[in-house]
Amino acid sequence: MIIAVDFDGTIVEHAYPKIGKPIPFAIEVLKKLQHEEHHLLVLWTVREDDLLEEALEYCKRSGLEFYSVNNNYPEENQGVEPRKINADLYIDDKNIGGIPDWGVIYNMVKSGSNGDWDVNDYLSNNNYLSKKKKNFLIRLGEAWDQVKGRSY
Ligand SMILES: [Mg+2]
Repeated sequence: MIIAVDFDGTIVEHAYPKIGKPIPFAIEVLKKLQHEEHHLLVLWTVREDDLLEEALEYCKRSGLEFYSVNNNYPEENQGVEPRKINADLYIDDKNIGGIPDWGVIYNMVKSGSNGDWDVNDYLSNNNYLSKKKKNFLIRLGEAWDQVKGRSY
């Protein structure tokens, strides 16, 4: 799955623009979800520029690197527009009902994850390019072929 995860108040305690104290097990759980369950983690934060770099550096020092940062995939550049990330799951301290402990988050994601999820399948078959709508004329041609192929 694609999991979008917030930083301030989620990975560390809220102290923006400073970096707050670590929230217990946040980084450990995220690394497990990434390396053992093979989910793709997207950092989804309001932080930009130096403040973003500080957050990334903070995570990297603990061995956590993200698939993508404020973008749906590494090559995308949304700039600074606050667009929503297309994730299967969001982990954010602003969740309705608040954010559970990270041990609970881990179990929720693990028990809810589809056993068929395969990161390589996702990246090769289900990426943004294959989700793009085909050209209208191609779709029309395919529809025509289907009609012709039918016997009445
Ligand atoms: Mg937050």
